[in-house]
Amino acid sequence: MTRGICILGATGSIGKSTLDVVSRHPDQFRIVALTGNHRVAEMQALCEQHHPELVVMAAPEAAQQLRVILRDMGLKHIRVESGPGALAEAARMDGVDEVMAAIVGAAGLLPTLAAVESGKKVYLANKECLVMAGSLFMERVRHHQVILLPIDSEHNAVFQCFAEGKGVRRVLLTASGGPFRTWPMERLAAVTPDQACAHPNWVMGRKISVDSATMMNKGLEVIEAHWLFNLPASRIDVLIHPQSIIHSMVEYVDGSVLAQLGNPDMRTPIAHALAYPERMESGVSSLDLARGPDLQFEAPDLQRFPCLALAFSALRAGGAAATVLNAANEMAVQAFLDGALPFSRIAAVVEDTLTELQPAAPDHLDAVLAVDQLARETAVRHLCRYRSGMQ
Ligand code: NAD
Ligand code: MG
Repeated sequence: MTRGICILGATGSIGKSTLDVVSRHPDQFRIVALTGNHRVAEMQALCEQHHPELVVMAAPEAAQQLRVILRDMGLKHIRVESGPGALAEAARMDGVDEVMAAIVGAAGLLPTLAAVESGKKVYLANKECLVMAGSLFMERVRHHQVILLPIDSEHNAVFQCFAEGKGVRRVLLTASGGPFRTWPMERLAAVTPDQACAHPNWVMGRKISVDSATMMNKGLEVIEAHWLFNLPASRIDVLIHPQSIIHSMVEYVDGSVLAQLGNPDMRTPIAHALAYPERMESGVSSLDLARGPDLQFEAPDLQRFPCLALAFSALRAGGAAATVLNAANEMAVQAFLDGALPFSRIAAVVEDTLTELQPAAPDHLDAVLAVDQLARETAVRHLCRYRSGMQ
């Protein structure tokens, strides 16, 4: 019997890698629902290839355009909906057994929670869910006894090395250090969005690419690891490894260190999670260590990467600090991508927002969403100050 899949964020980088893996195993999977935002042509191509039952475009005008195109192509059996309610509907619909949560940012929280609350197996790429609402999210996962498997390459690597989690001394998350690891600091103010999105090892969406360049991505991943593996900040370390061959490591109390290696290609963690506890072909080539680059390691420079330090301190502070961190970062990164904030000011906007707001730990979803909204408004105020300083 085939397993019905919903891909939230199907037009994105993780969405496409998931479709690539799934397409290699038509005997095991059928695509039931796909969601996107406003990229109509890309979704049209996915509809022609995969014939889902339901497509959701978050943007209403995109849904309307797609409806017309699909009707003209003779694909009117594919239902097209729009809006946040429809994203959640795709995640919980009958016929969907498993959900790939690959929407970027806070927009992924509600549909991913809908998948959890309807008891679907969840593959989690959207780390912002856990940063924003980790306590509540994990409580729902436990309550609904849902299987949650990590897609983020580091967390998938830790999961593969974690065994039963007995005797773990610490987890070492590896990080490439992004495109600016060796740039002179004074050049960082003039970095362009295209430079920031040109990651040396991975091809990813623009938001996570900027996060990788500031190393906020690693900070978000530290918080993600805290929730997924139930570890305090003191037992999560970050190690720069520019080649992105070791995807992360687990150190045990006896001194053993287990690492997971592979070519940097997200199809490996995706295939691992989709097949777990079995294994399946992913299309990723063999790792050739004899011909490959030398593997290097160094400690992260927190002066160069203040976002990483901010994420660690938000995790230590508790309360709603991580929710504030995530919201402020999303606003600052978008402003940078829009040309309205220098790259080197992203950390300052996040820091100022964290200093201004110290809300208590939210105990229900509406409180999380209220903190998220307040932090966005506060971040915009700080952004405007830095923007007015731009030449
Ligand atoms: P992407 O920008 O390539 O794709 C994002 C997807 O989300 C697209 O399908 C887009 O249509 C959809 N989307 C964006 N805004 C939306 C909104 N408001 N409402 C509904 N849908 C919306 O991003 P990506 O690189 O695929 O990353 C997706 C998630 O996976 C992120 O949370 C990222 O941190 C995580 N992740 C990505 C990678 C990677 O290699 N790309 C690795 C690890 C984790
Ligand atoms: Mg990662």
